[in-house]
Amino acid sequence: MQALSNPNEWIEKYPALRPVIKAQPVLWLNPDKKRVSDSFPLPLGKADMEKGQAFMDQYALYIAKIFPETAATHGQIFSPLSTLDKFSSLRSRGVHKISGRFFLKCDHALPVAGSIKARGGFFEVLHFAHQLAASEGFIHENETADFSQPEIKALFSRYTIGVGSTGNLGLSIGIISAKLGFRVNVYMSHDAKEWKKNLLRKNGAHVIEEEGDFGVAIAKGRKETTRNPLGYFVDDENSSRLFLGYSLAAYEVQKQLNQLKINIDEEHPLFVYSPCGVGGSPGGVMFGLKMIYGDAVHSFFAEPTHSPAVLTGLITGLKEKISVHDIGLDNLTEADGLAVGRPSAFASEIIKKLVSGIYTIEDSALFQLLKELNDTEQIFIEPSATAGLMGPEQVLASTYLSKNKIDPSKVTHLAWSTGGDLVPEKTRKQFLQRSDHIQVKF
Ligand SMILES: *Cc1c(COP(=O)(O)O)cnc(C)c1O
Repeated sequence: MQALSNPNEWIEKYPALRPVIKAQPVLWLNPDKKRVSDSFPLPLGKADMEKGQAFMDQYALYIAKIFPETAATHGQIFSPLSTLDKFSSLRSRGVHKISGRFFLKCDHALPVAGSIKARGGFFEVLHFAHQLAASEGFIHENETADFSQPEIKALFSRYTIGVGSTGNLGLSIGIISAKLGFRVNVYMSHDAKEWKKNLLRKNGAHVIEEEGDFGVAIAKGRKETTRNPLGYFVDDENSSRLFLGYSLAAYEVQKQLNQLKINIDEEHPLFVYSPCGVGGSPGGVMFGLKMIYGDAVHSFFAEPTHSPAVLTGLITGLKEKISVHDIGLDNLTEADGLAVGRPSAFASEIIKKLVSGIYTIEDSALFQLLKELNDTEQIFIEPSATAGLMGPEQVLASTYLSKNKIDPSKVTHLAWSTGGDLVPEKTRKQFLQRSDHIQVKF
């Protein structure tokens, strides 16, 4: 990115950047959002999702076998949908009353990886494994391989999977790759938590610790892995596979809302709030839901005030060509899952057309939400995963509903909880104590 030297130059060029550069919390509404019904080209479509789901169904038995904790869901990577009545009434005591129903999609409880990364990560690695087995003649493209077959395991053991991560993507890719018999190198940024690195090592992954942030870790991982002729790099900054894997969560939401007899249409819309790092997981989920519910879905992303990677990319239109460092931010946040400075190129292109808005949130607010959710609903999630919980009050306080002629009482709100189940007890206590002495104004 050609650097503009001082913040004022940026602000002059892009006035919406003013609060972003100052690391102030902001809600930005996307002026370029398109209506899905005005069909416009997207790099993926519903047919890709259907094929993707069929692929995951095909390998569900294998997943259930290697990860017994998924046996109860027959090898499906599945998470519950929880009501948030108590949390919602606590939050409604503040300035903004939350009208409409409020749910939590509990991806913090996803099996094996304990975060939303299980969706994208498992999808991409299984896909690579399938294609490798097919290209080496073990199966035809449309057959299902038996990955536990010794000859296939021997083949996989010659290959190295690489990934750059702030923690959770590394856990997901590391655990499943090692289980399949691949060698796996996880390039971890400086903010990756020690317990995540230890857990990976325990599972047989090779952890490479970087001094720098996510951008540094992913660049090194990409360089070293692609140099290896038997290497495969899971590229969080540009992966359509991860994206498609995340999108399949939409089928689950559809089933769960149907079971609850909650009808979604343009008059009774679904508002979804997702914590956002590079934009892959929130983008994938949004894309999937739009393919099912069209314009009845309104999607909002939440980023830390110090790491608004996707927001900066969209306001400037520079997408992956700009990082938060370019506008003078430090990319330092306790929300390790969101600590990225540059958005995914693949995801940004889609997000630009579909996202309703993005808000930024301070770390102190994340810890407050973490504690409030724990106290009211007895649900523990990690700091990154809490960012969506502030969505309803943010959006209800804005002009968004009146502009779109939406009756607030007819909205179903869905905050996406993205990680937390694997956090050790000691760390949980520390996180919960963090908010004891914080007084946050909302
Ligand atoms: C990775 C992650 C996110 C964000 O996903 P991106 O694909 O980077 O946008 C959100 N929450 C948690 C807990 C994560 O690990």
